[in-house]
Amino acid sequence: MLSIIKQLPDSVANQIAAGEVIQRPASAVKELLENAVDAGAQEINLIIKDAGKTLIQVVDDGCGMTSIDARMCFERHATSKISKAEDLFAIKTMGFRGEALASIAAIAHLELKTRVHDEELGTKIIIEGSSLKTQEACQCDAGTNIMIKNLFFNVPARRNFLKSNAAETRHIYEEFIRVAMVNPDIEFSLTNNDKIVYKLEKGSFKFRLVSIYGKIYDQRIIHIEQKTDLVSISGFIGKPEFAKKTRGEQYFFVNGRYIKHAYLNHAVNNAYSELMADDAFPSYFIKIDIDPADIDINIHPTKTEVNFKDARYIYAILHAAAKQSIGKHTLTPTIDFDVDPSMEAALNTAPTSNVKQPEVRVNPEYNPFEQENKTSTYKEGYIKPKSDKNWEELYAGLKNQIEDNITTAPTREDQPELAISKKISSGKFFQLHNKYIATSVRSGLMIINQQRAHERILYEQYLNQISNQIKASQQQLFPVNISFSHSDAEIIKDLSKDLKLLGFDMEEFGQNGFVLNGLPVGMNESISKNTLENIIENYKKESTSLSFDKNIILARTMASNLSIKAGVRLGQEEMEDIFDKLFACAIPDKSPGGKGVLTILQLDDIDKLIK
Ligand code: ADP
Ligand code: MG
Repeated sequence: MLSIIKQLPDSVANQIAAGEVIQRPASAVKELLENAVDAGAQEINLIIKDAGKTLIQVVDDGCGMTSIDARMCFERHATSKISKAEDLFAIKTMGFRGEALASIAAIAHLELKTRVHDEELGTKIIIEGSSLKTQEACQCDAGTNIMIKNLFFNVPARRNFLKSNAAETRHIYEEFIRVAMVNPDIEFSLTNNDKIVYKLEKGSFKFRLVSIYGKIYDQRIIHIEQKTDLVSISGFIGKPEFAKKTRGEQYFFVNGRYIKHAYLNHAVNNAYSELMADDAFPSYFIKIDIDPADIDINIHPTKTEVNFKDARYIYAILHAAAKQSIGKHTLTPTIDFDVDPSMEAALNTAPTSNVKQPEVRVNPEYNPFEQENKTSTYKEGYIKPKSDKNWEELYAGLKNQIEDNITTAPTREDQPELAISKKISSGKFFQLHNKYIATSVRSGLMIINQQRAHERILYEQYLNQISNQIKASQQQLFPVNISFSHSDAEIIKDLSKDLKLLGFDMEEFGQNGFVLNGLPVGMNESISKNTLENIIENYKKESTSLSFDKNIILARTMASNLSIKAGVRLGQEEMEDIFDKLFACAIPDKSPGGKGVLTILQLDDIDKLIK
């Protein structure tokens, strides 16, 4: 029988490779921009027409190529960036596979002009579908000017697969931003259909971000930084209140290369968990610098994925760094307690003529996360934020706001620790549809979601109980038997110490069974089973992530199971109690899941409503 195996001609092999590397015009843009960065350019200009379908041009002032290299660069596996296998573990350049230009040349009409700085003449090359049409000496600027025309001219399937010009243009902008963002010491421009879209001057990383997104970002981002022997993390993350409804402004750069990384994404997202709705996406622009030997970037043809030798470690560092930054810069909740001017003076804060809107009181020192480590019990075991000066002010302000509270304005000395409403006679709270607690405050009407408020209260209480080892249990008259599957029983055993602190006084009984001698205060038998099951479920769900914090999961689950639900009728005293305890919390305006707890209907707005 005849042998039938043949080596594919290079042009075919290149087309196949192109299928992997160049999926759309934006992929070609990415490759060309990265080549220009690798060439050490100070200035890179991208010009596109018709979403890159007609023209993609990149002009750089980098090192340029000699006439021999100018021809060589279109060969498959032709690269100046690595030469031996070991080099793969020390990659400092964007490219190294030596297949981008060969791939692009296989599926487009391409014109290259390039000159190295110490030569007078450059080289011009024209290639169409892998075949060389022209190579000649030419006059041109030092650096490289490469034009791609008629992309996919010989791959109709790909061409037809392309999306609308608007969509493809968006992809190109995105690739441009990914390269430009992390190279702020290079000047970039992007011209689309003869219109300049981006012109990015050199500057700091922050300056580059602001140049891309606009001045307003100056106020929206906070610095993040963490250096260890193994990794250096730096960049910016968005303030929680500017989290987006869609994923989008989320950028990781590993050694200057944009990458996607679901696991690390989780590390950042998680750092916001308390302060952001569950369905929101924080912005981040984070550079991770690491020894190239500790990563593998060669796992995907487009190099947008990377394997870390020690992903868990990086996760932990990143998570901690993000959390710290958020904590450092977090704003006290944006509840607008408008404060009586005399009160304000009493509190020694600079009175202004515009006292109507002291909406946000920001204490740069205030760190809501500090409570997790440095809790101090005070009154009924609630957590008191370390730097609670602002809250005292807020209580004081609030106190004064409660209508009819005409007792003498309290001074700091006689300010009770808690009990904002204690001095206020009953009858000042009313319940709306068994769901909201409403109370009149000076600026209008405060409405509190009873369930979320109570969750917040319990959450902080339980966290405090666990971290300060305060046990609170009520003994059962008749012990309860309860059993689980083997693996679930293992989890319960793992957690038994913490469960005890929460009030689950339990002993192992038989195989996978337990006897409950005592239950958390206020919990009945039926809820207890449910709660333990929820704890197991949440534990399983979260335990794979490194940021996973057992205490938080326990406290959250307890809080959601034990909280007063919507639909429950509350008496005056109960409402008052919730009100007091809520404002003794570290973060009263967010539920443990990050949802809003309260709002104030402004008097002005009410006036407008009733015309
Ligand atoms: P890689 O970037 O993986 O090396 P490419 O196919 O993108 O592979 O490029 C091949 C080679 O061509 C590069 O290694 C580099 O030596 C040269 N080259 C490509 N673009 C430029 C440029 N803009 N300036 C200077 N040299 C370039
Ligand atoms: Mg390249």
